[in-house]
Amino acid sequence: MPRVSLSSIPSVDRLLRSEAAQPLIAERGRAIVTDAIRAVLRELRTDADGGNGLDLSEAAIVARVRERIAVESVPSLRPVFNLTGTVLHTNLGRAPLPEEAVEAMMQAALRPTNLEFDLDQGRRGDRDDHVERLLCRLTGAEAATVVNNNAAAVLLVLNTLALRKEVPVSRGELIEIGGAFRMPEIMARAGCRLREVGTTNRVHLSDYTDAIGPKTGLVMKVHTSNYAIVGFTSTVDEAPLAAACHDRNVPFVVDLGSGTLVGLAEYGLPHEPTPMESLAHGADLVTFSGDKLLGGPQAGIIVGRGNLIARLKRNPLKRSLRVDKITMAGLGAVLRLYLDPERLATRLPVLRSLTRSAEEIRAAANRLLSPVASALDTVANVRIVDCGSEIGSGALPTREIASAGLAVTPVDGTGTMLNRIAAAFRQLPVPVIGRTHEGSLVMDLRCLEDEAAFTSQLARLQV
Ligand SMILES: *Cc1c(COP(=O)(O)O)cnc(C)c1O
Repeated sequence: MPRVSLSSIPSVDRLLRSEAAQPLIAERGRAIVTDAIRAVLRELRTDADGGNGLDLSEAAIVARVRERIAVESVPSLRPVFNLTGTVLHTNLGRAPLPEEAVEAMMQAALRPTNLEFDLDQGRRGDRDDHVERLLCRLTGAEAATVVNNNAAAVLLVLNTLALRKEVPVSRGELIEIGGAFRMPEIMARAGCRLREVGTTNRVHLSDYTDAIGPKTGLVMKVHTSNYAIVGFTSTVDEAPLAAACHDRNVPFVVDLGSGTLVGLAEYGLPHEPTPMESLAHGADLVTFSGDKLLGGPQAGIIVGRGNLIARLKRNPLKRSLRVDKITMAGLGAVLRLYLDPERLATRLPVLRSLTRSAEEIRAAANRLLSPVASALDTVANVRIVDCGSEIGSGALPTREIASAGLAVTPVDGTGTMLNRIAAAFRQLPVPVIGRTHEGSLVMDLRCLEDEAAFTSQLARLQV
């Protein structure tokens, strides 16, 4: 092959002035095009050294530049199909938001808002005002405040009410939640001394009352959201523990984790404890996440007694943990959906996904079987399977919800091929994330709403 001479590669300037580049500059801007031209020319020079017969016309080089810019401008954070079977998947961004929330967030993002401005009085307001009354109405609490996530809510409560004091917690509730949320570490960072009570499997009311003394800042009960202790177990119910705390003038706090504002049993799902129940049992404060079962944006919600919430709001840490106007707008819109529980299951995506019946999902699997099978052609067999979805994010860790999906099994039966198939699905324009199980890639279809978008990209699958 003849060597391509380096001198036949056009200069950056010539390319920028070329007719072919003008529409691209108009579309993307001169700086981005200039950078991409430089990068493409560097590539060509190394190729030219190798001497492959490259098309070095201005038009061909600009076409490469256009392609490069297209690849580089794909944002790192983008939508995926969550076919893992875990509805609230923390690594996949937890709850998808309802339209109503997205609209409210867009309005708050586009324009100035009265975030901390009291329109009646014409003076400074409190950002919590936009959701506090709704939260009180929905939970029966006296007061409420919102921070960045539930980990922040727990931190703020501990630091405000138990700084340099002891916090008795049952040994069986000293949980670690995915990533780095370990209750004992949060306690230490909040400036509290953890006082473990009971044993891993059993704790009694007397274990708590023995531990409560002048040094106690608060008593905390943590919803053991991501595991269950079974067998010879005993826990203390909220109501007697609350009463014991109140007798001793110590606040009783419940960290619920996933908090939903409706009884899930009404929707045919297993019951999950609610903030209303904890408050009714006598909890002084309850903390829960905005983006778990509640189905809203990432936030940490604290509801409970007015005097304690007022103390939380006065803690300087509150300022570091507060939420922005966009979250406030989205959370407000989600809470308003809860005022109309009859339509909640169609309007709130988390509940919509959770309440889809196995038959409905199986029907979707029937529709998708042949498009997926033909996309994988000779590489894999595809069949419809029953599977069990999980709520995820800690709710009901031991309960699965009957679902259905497609199982993709490599014809050659190898793990290597299975990995290649899973990678090919992840490399689609909207990556498809399933889970591998016993030699197959299983795609649980519970969370697939846009089937057309899913099938339309199958033609691009490259195993
Ligand atoms: C999830 C969870 C948290 C942490 O909440 P984030 O919103 O993820 O910060 C804390 N406590 C419990 C019991 C949880 O389940």
